[in-house]
Amino acid sequence: MTFATLGLIEPLLRSLEKLGYQTPTPVQAQAIPAVLAGRDLMAAAQTGTGKTAGFALPLLQLLAMEGPKVTANSVRALILVPTRELAEQVHEAVRQYAENLPLRTYAVYGGVSINPQMMKLRSGVDLLVATPGRLLDLFRQNALKFNQLQTLVLDEADRMLDLGFSEELANIYRALPKKRQTLLFSATFSDDIRLLAGQMLNDPLTIEVSPRNVAANTVKQWVVTVDKKRKPELFVHLMRKGKWKQVLVFAKTRNGVDALVEKLQGLGINADGIHGDKPQATRQRALDRFKLSEVQILVATDVAARGLDIEDLPLVVNFDLPIVAEDYIHRIGRTGRAGSTGEAISLVCADEVNLLSAIEMLTRQTLKRQNEPDFEPEHRVPDTDASGQVIKKPKKPKKPKTSGGGGKRNLGKWVDSGEVAPAEPSVKPVRKVPVFNTGPRKRKP
Ligand code: AMP
Repeated sequence: MTFATLGLIEPLLRSLEKLGYQTPTPVQAQAIPAVLAGRDLMAAAQTGTGKTAGFALPLLQLLAMEGPKVTANSVRALILVPTRELAEQVHEAVRQYAENLPLRTYAVYGGVSINPQMMKLRSGVDLLVATPGRLLDLFRQNALKFNQLQTLVLDEADRMLDLGFSEELANIYRALPKKRQTLLFSATFSDDIRLLAGQMLNDPLTIEVSPRNVAANTVKQWVVTVDKKRKPELFVHLMRKGKWKQVLVFAKTRNGVDALVEKLQGLGINADGIHGDKPQATRQRALDRFKLSEVQILVATDVAARGLDIEDLPLVVNFDLPIVAEDYIHRIGRTGRAGSTGEAISLVCADEVNLLSAIEMLTRQTLKRQNEPDFEPEHRVPDTDASGQVIKKPKKPKKPKTSGGGGKRNLGKWVDSGEVAPAEPSVKPVRKVPVFNTGPRKRKP
């Protein structure tokens, strides 16, 4: 199969040739003809599957071939994404695909001045990539009209809800024409998102190019258990031992990112960090330098790293486990892309056992544990498995205190849980599924 047989026009084929895309990926093979035929789409595709081209190519073709010329302050196709970085990345892909087409494309997001964006929108834009908050600001300031809108794309839809954009999305929907094509893309789909999609989409074609919520099997994953306070030390130890060259590290909070970067830099390690508190230009610079291998260790929160496409990233380290289990899939999706193998290591302390359990249940696998000599935790991490069970050992009866103590050190023995067959969840996951149309939740971790 070729892109030509999918019905793409010559100007797009020329762009693809220049980019070196020879064969459509599975998601592209399914999405491109369906979008060209005007269908609504609900697509569950893992990151790295080529989903951006899957929606952008047919969208650009429809814009070039059909519909009226764009008028002042109008937009004909809108791609909503959860973060600024993703907005830049998707727009860059769109720009490359549209190189030979007479279309105007643009990206808007918060964290930068709104005025240049308002100026740019004055003459109208065929395809706009936007984060929900800034899009609404622009709409409310009359810099944007939706009367010409023919297609809406929600990229990383589950993440947008997780980030508290449900109210913004509801407000955006209210402003859009009822008659439109809607494409919903996400790496993972919870049942609630499917329900929501059912309300938004009209007779959608469902595409699932990989089993639901199963992490990429090209990524070798394991867990090292450790006491919380020793995580930085363990990280440096593993880094030196494994001679890590380029690592993307995920920490839970902005403070956590800053603290780890400071610690690493203090040891003379070439590290930088990105999180929602940093100005957009600083974030982009850190990311660009990481991509160019000028920065060895990039520490990020989930928001800042969402959807980033970094070629040939060999290793992802979860310094902290994510609060939302689905983020684990997104995080490890940064490595092992496009068929290459990758590694994902999670440093897990006793406090995080429920998060670990939720991840194992979601990904239907028991993550292999590997203890690091000299770093065995004092606070043992209870065993977990893919059924969502946290296996607590029965407490041993307290020994009467003798001189020299030692009662607190009686922490039980760690047992290798090994891999188990996929199991249906027996308990509810830890993650609370956001309810659409409720108040905003925490925006930036
Ligand atoms: P995405 O999943 O959209 O983030 O894409 C992942 C990476 O795959 C990006 O670097 C794309 O440029 C690349 N890519 C997408 N489609 C193809 C294709 N058909 N052939 C080769 N590379 C592709």
